[in-house]
Amino acid sequence: MLDVMPRKSNTARTQTELGFIAEVARLAGSHTKPGKALALGIGDDCALLRPPRGQVVAITTDFSLEGRHFLRAVHPPESVGHRALARGLSDLAAMGATPLAAFLSLALPPRVMQTAWPEKFLAGLLALAREHRVPLAGGDTAQSPDNNILVDIVLVGAVPEKISLLRSGARAGDKLYVSGSLGGAAAELAVLLQSPKKFSRLHQAASGHPHLYPQPRLTLGKSLLRRATACIDISDGLSTDLAHLCQRSSVRAVVNTATLPIAPTANLKQALHGGEDYELLFTAPASQRIPKKIAGVAITCIGEILPKKKSAPPCQLRDAAGKLSPLAAEGYEHFA
Ligand SMILES: [Mg+2]
Repeated sequence: MLDVMPRKSNTARTQTELGFIAEVARLAGSHTKPGKALALGIGDDCALLRPPRGQVVAITTDFSLEGRHFLRAVHPPESVGHRALARGLSDLAAMGATPLAAFLSLALPPRVMQTAWPEKFLAGLLALAREHRVPLAGGDTAQSPDNNILVDIVLVGAVPEKISLLRSGARAGDKLYVSGSLGGAAAELAVLLQSPKKFSRLHQAASGHPHLYPQPRLTLGKSLLRRATACIDISDGLSTDLAHLCQRSSVRAVVNTATLPIAPTANLKQALHGGEDYELLFTAPASQRIPKKIAGVAITCIGEILPKKKSAPPCQLRDAAGKLSPLAAEGYEHFA
């Protein structure tokens, strides 16, 4: 946990690894203090967690690599911090889990250590952590051997042992639902890449910026524990994540194009294949009443689950006239 490898001393707060760790602990503030689930946070060889009785531990890890998941020249550092944590929180949301603690490992090029980048990155990450009451409970820092930033996030959550929300629970006859709107993140990214300067001024976690500041659906996820049969978060695009859900559940799905909640800024292609919306895609029995809004987030029925059939592709689109066409998994990695 937060290994300390002191190097050339420097007076500025974040410019040595020791100073950086002290700064992380200071900025994390009360959120690293031991609480109910976090028995011991930053400062020892390990953090100690105490999952609530009757719950099992959920763990997810995510890399955010410069050049692949973000571009230093266009993404504000606050957004890089926010998005790194949001990805992991969204995975917890998809399992109906409650976050217990986050662990952050960071490799920074020496030149980046001399700038305000680390502090701004942390501010973005910790603002989202505070919003969801996730303590930052440890991690590691190292000097990056090349000129790239590498962020690794581990999130630990808890989920009731006897009720699980998996990708594999969808059954023929279930309805297919999605939260929020689709394609907004891909649409915002397209604008961002065209005029990076416009975005460099956005330093606050703001709503209406689905690419820079996506909102993980944790409250919704928890409320789906007793309602949904299967769930996945949309990180790679609806087409790709629906294919994962169908494969894990051994079913197929038909999506009604006319019912898709396409973000006002997005087109159909972005809604179907654009990644990083971090909405929840879930199934529920047709007899299960699903409200139009859960935890303030709109819920839309976009299709249905059918038995697997050799002659039909695993995912299909149905247009307004009822004509079916295959929905290929074409979600993509933006900077791959
Ligand atoms: Mg996921």
